[in-house]
Amino acid sequence: MENSVAEEPKTYSVLVVEDDPHTAELLTYNLSEAGFQVFNAEDGLSALHKLDIVVVDLIICDVMMPEMDGFALRDRINQDLVMREIPFIFLTAKSTAEDQILGLGMGVDEYVTKPFDPEVLLARVHAVLRRHEIYARVARLDPLTKLLNRQTLQREIERELARIKRYPAVATLVFLDIDEFKQVNDKYGHAAGDHALGHLASALTKDIRTVDIVGRYGGEEFILYFPETPEDIGRRIIERMHSTFQQLSESDGAGPLTFSAGLVEAPRDGEDFTTLCNRADAAMYRAKKQGKAQVLVWRPEMAPQSEAG
Ligand code: GH3
Ligand code: MG
Ligand code: MG
Ligand code: MG
Repeated sequence: MENSVAEEPKTYSVLVVEDDPHTAELLTYNLSEAGFQVFNAEDGLSALHKLDIVVVDLIICDVMMPEMDGFALRDRINQDLVMREIPFIFLTAKSTAEDQILGLGMGVDEYVTKPFDPEVLLARVHAVLRRHEIYARVARLDPLTKLLNRQTLQREIERELARIKRYPAVATLVFLDIDEFKQVNDKYGHAAGDHALGHLASALTKDIRTVDIVGRYGGEEFILYFPETPEDIGRRIIERMHSTFQQLSESDGAGPLTFSAGLVEAPRDGEDFTTLCNRADAAMYRAKKQGKAQVLVWRPEMAPQSEAG
């Protein structure tokens, strides 16, 4: 799915930590030529100060430096949950086996020894960034459906909700659950069930806008968030997705499958993720009770179990 994970051309920024002016200049020149935005620091301490004020995609770090050397800097970075995720390359004249084992043991991505070939270093830089991007993307997605996973889904919706607090707007949140899904597994096998989940993912991502958020909340439960979308439009979108899902699932014999969905409009029906989800879930539960295969908008009399006490 392209939603929320679309690749945009990006300018990478790199922090070069190097006390030798000649090497720093050579690195800065080559990285700038390759399109990087380059920041410089002359030792570990000034690197930490820099990292306080700028966000970088990569750190290239010398080892032997005054004040705080590269190993000491890496030690400090390892204690920081955010900084230690930044791709990191040691670039140093310390080239013994012991040095390299020590450096790599600190959880860095590459250990390059001087003298170095700038073009080979650039190739390593790109390889490291590619690897990190793949990890980052995989960590955001549910492996089966390739939709956002639960954590990412929640984080992205919370960010949107914070935004509409500052810049008022309406949005629709939908909670949906496949009907009689256990029967699909029982009758046709787990693989057919997985396949049906794939069909649902296709139905939910067909024709959505890049600003829409779609994720897998759990087993056969999904959440969608449509920014700038009032309830009636949100309902039309989800109903269209419902018929797409029925068609796709019917085409391979296990269907037609349906889902039940509950819908809330923010901020009218709630301002935070938990309230909105609970209420959309309550509306979904009501849709199940009323015969399934339908979309219901939350009403106060459907107060979720957690609110009803
Ligand atoms: P209802 O209409 O009330 O929602 O009934 P249901 O059978 O869909 O609901 P129930 O919660 O009883 O069962 C959900 C089923 O979803 C149980 C589980 O086997 C199946 N399921 C959950 N995750 C997966 C998955 O990743 N793959 C497959 N194949 N099945 C899954
Ligand atoms: Mg040095
Ligand atoms: Mg369920
Ligand atoms: Mg179900």
